[in-house]
Amino acid sequence: MIELVIFRTGGVEIGRSSFVPGASDAKSFAPVWSALLRTPEGNILFDTGLHPVHVDRPDATFGPGSLKVVMAKEDAIVARLLSLGVHPDEIAVVVNSHLHFDHAGGNTVREGEDRVRPAFPNGHQSLVVELRETGRVVLCGDAAFTRENLERGEIRAPDEQTAKESLALIRSLVKDDLERVFVSHDAASWSRWKRAPESYR
Ligand SMILES: [Zn+2]
Repeated sequence: MIELVIFRTGGVEIGRSSFVPGASDAKSFAPVWSALLRTPEGNILFDTGLHPVHVDRPDATFGPGSLKVVMAKEDAIVARLLSLGVHPDEIAVVVNSHLHFDHAGGNTVREGEDRVRPAFPNGHQSLVVELRETGRVVLCGDAAFTRENLERGEIRAPDEQTAKESLALIRSLVKDDLERVFVSHDAASWSRWKRAPESYR
């Protein structure tokens, strides 16, 4: 039996235009989250959130006047895992959707470390999970920032054609049931999901 627990690791204030082509520039809060999968073969962590340096220095990655990061002390990945009763040593596998600062910021957190190296690599993966009671779900990562991306089949991306194909693939994986899709940064969707300590089974 696999149990899926979704939990907050912070947020960013950002315009919808960063997610959806042609959308408004007005800024609003977008959640940043990670997920714990408890499986018979060990714990899997999907994305590691923001580096905790952002608690005291929200502009640590991109500098003053840029993207506004929102992060509380308890959003740090280690604190969140401990609150779920999981020590970091009890994570068997970390799956990163990709290596942007809000998805892989906790990969190398060490005590006393205060530097952040933004990563801008190629490539991305989403995670498909077959749950016994809920059925199939997809943890999108940034393949879909918002539900609107999936509904419109459009997304802001370096390669928009390939990104559109990914959106279509995600829709086909859940037979167009978008309630089975966990998009990366959508406040409205986030508010409807079960979140820690609740879980999907
Ligand atoms: Zn992201």
